[in-house]
Amino acid sequence: MTDKALDLGVIICKHCMTVIDTLPTERVLRYYSDCQELDCLMTRVKEEQSSYAASPHTLAASRQS
Ligand SMILES: [Zn+2]
Repeated sequence: MTDKALDLGVIICKHCMTVIDTLPTERVLRYYSDCQELDCLMTRVKEEQSSYAASPHTLAASRQS
């Protein structure tokens, strides 16, 4: 049995945790990347907007600069 080419390494989107790709590694490894999916991008935009709303100081600071 030489069939050890299991894809234990996974590349995960750090934003939505979707598995983007797998890698044939000997150990379980996780790499975090960015899936570039539109749904994921939209989710991130929403999160940024809600965090801005929660911290008006950040918004004021960005207006001044
Ligand atoms: Zn994503």
